[in-house]
Amino acid sequence: MSKTIIAWADHSWNPCTGCDPVSMACIDPAGRAGCYARYTCGWLHRVGQEKYRNNFKFTTHPYALAEPGKRKKPTIYFVNSVSDTFHEKAPLEFIQEIFRAMNSSPQHRFLVLTKRVERMLQLDSQLPWAPHIWAGVTVEHPDYLHRLELLRQVSSPTRFISMEPLLAPMPQLDLSGVSMVIVGCEKTPGTKRPGRPMEEEWVRQLRDMCLEQGVAFFYKQGVRNGKVVETPELDGQKWVQMPEGIVLEKNQG
Ligand code: SF4
Repeated sequence: MSKTIIAWADHSWNPCTGCDPVSMACIDPAGRAGCYARYTCGWLHRVGQEKYRNNFKFTTHPYALAEPGKRKKPTIYFVNSVSDTFHEKAPLEFIQEIFRAMNSSPQHRFLVLTKRVERMLQLDSQLPWAPHIWAGVTVEHPDYLHRLELLRQVSSPTRFISMEPLLAPMPQLDLSGVSMVIVGCEKTPGTKRPGRPMEEEWVRQLRDMCLEQGVAFFYKQGVRNGKVVETPELDGQKWVQMPEGIVLEKNQG
């Protein structure tokens, strides 16, 4: 468990590490950008961290399950920021252990973001979602809009979409059943260089859809002067809205 630079969470919590590509966001065809988790696992493997001995191979870490319970300060967690909770190699029993740990710590909020929403939905009846456990899915391109339909069927009362890296403009969307949309450009891991291009007009269109439909809008990262910056302004203000009116300390002021 550690503080995260990711603008929409306080800490990351990784009872799982490693993953495999499943989506356009995972790999830049030119090999310059893509998965932040792959980069992070590779780096921690190279510096010899025991938890990352398997590098990017999917691995569970039962000892990490107790970590959120030890922290009393209410915290927004990004669950499995260097993996995918619904990876096909994640045993159901272990996913249930993760949910048990989250349910035992209602002082926190847990953001469970996946690209494998089919499995998230398939296991839905066996997972005790609660109001402080938010379900999210990545939709980086209109080709993946079916994930939004599946997310709507997941029992979590708070659902969110991450459109990062946003790779194409989105059509007009029905955001019913969604509480938050996160948008960001692609960043080349380990640098501040942008990856595949994102146009600000695509972001503006999504912001307007969120405003019209009463959905929290979070502009996580964009490009300014050729560099990727966190929570940039759009039309004269930052957009760091979250459900329940939450504004993280690092985004205040
Ligand atoms: S961690 Fe996410 S971005 Fe990386 S390979 Fe897995 S699903 Fe793709």
